[in-house]
Amino acid sequence: MASLITHPIVPFSLGVALGRRNIPLRALFLGMMLSMLPDADVVAFRFGIPYDHMLGHRGFSHSLLFAGGIALLCAGLPLFRGMRFRLFLFFAFATASHGVLDAMTTGGKGVGFFIPFEPERYFLPLRPILVSPLSVKGFFNERGWAVFKSELLWVWLPCAVAALAIFIFRRREARA
Ligand SMILES: [Zn+2]
Repeated sequence: MASLITHPIVPFSLGVALGRRNIPLRALFLGMMLSMLPDADVVAFRFGIPYDHMLGHRGFSHSLLFAGGIALLCAGLPLFRGMRFRLFLFFAFATASHGVLDAMTTGGKGVGFFIPFEPERYFLPLRPILVSPLSVKGFFNERGWAVFKSELLWVWLPCAVAALAIFIFRRREARA
């Protein structure tokens, strides 16, 4: 995985850039949670499910089908009436972004984007993000700092630039 504080930065930047009227605060918060959710699959190790099993780490919970399914469930919540389609897209983006970041890391196995339709694990052609240790303890040492620096450069910075671009575009649209 990329580290747990970095995954939510992706939906956070998009949500903030789109503004509260498009993505209300509670949806923004839920989207940030969803971007971390796929790594709940590390419990698979505890149940003895091997890494490359469809239900193993970076398996089904990192798939596009899972992202779509969970987004559908969340957007269907009564409190999101009247903005379901927009929020479905936002939640699906938030959840799927997790797998995409993982597929850009230097370690572990690839991401099962198309599970259960095919078991293949994928990496993106570009993999600049140092893989994060799975334990919190492992993060607070020199290795953790190196991981965080690579995430700042390859995730936080592009997210900030994209958010700024969307924000400027929206302001222009509003004025036109
Ligand atoms: Zn992950």
